[in-house]
Amino acid sequence: MSFARLGLAPAITSALESLNYQQPTEIQQKAIPVALSGHNLLAAAQTGTGKTAAFGLPLIERLSKGKTERKKRVRAVIMAPTRELVVQVADNLGAYAANLPLTVLAMYGGVDMEAQKQALIAGVDILVATPGRLKDMYHQRAVHFDEIQVLVLDEADRMLDMGFIEVINDLIGRMPTNRQNLLFSATLSPRIRELAKTAVPDPVEIAI
Ligand code: AMP
Repeated sequence: MSFARLGLAPAITSALESLNYQQPTEIQQKAIPVALSGHNLLAAAQTGTGKTAAFGLPLIERLSKGKTERKKRVRAVIMAPTRELVVQVADNLGAYAANLPLTVLAMYGGVDMEAQKQALIAGVDILVATPGRLKDMYHQRAVHFDEIQVLVLDEADRMLDMGFIEVINDLIGRMPTNRQNLLFSATLSPRIRELAKTAVPDPVEIAI
């Protein structure tokens, strides 16, 4: 099995070669075709399994096809529980999109908002954010949701443990309804399934 056979463009597979990703991991083999087909996805996968590329590669593939110079608004939002994870995900996505004209921003709390606002004004395609800072930036009208095509909830169980459920539901309710949704969680507990009902309607379910 190769990344090209999963349906990813040469601009992406060449970036993966540079990273020495030789073949897709199990979660990548299962999730990438589903996500590329446009379905919603509910996936149970631990960290370390390659889940970042499982949602990141199809997301990048999709956005690379619709890039117009005009649009500066965010087209994909990834919510993750901590600053560390946000930075790690944004770094990985930046590497996967190295050969494409896509910009990625890591946005988290505890730091000054101004640099993040300036980056958004310059134009961000893929926004990786902690829920709290995303909420603050949204209410300050620094980030707009009207162009969002893809929403990813990464480590959703940890975000629930940290008490983000209301913030997440509120933010999702403000996004366009015709978006694609991908939810990744270590476990698919009843609480995750409750969140999934609204966040990821009618999903294909994958567990590894
Ligand atoms: P993740 O589960 O997304 O945190 O990924 C765990 C680690 O595996 C990261 O260092 C990735 O860069 C790496 N990785 C992800 N997919 C692959 C792959 N297909 N081949 C080799 N390394 C990978």
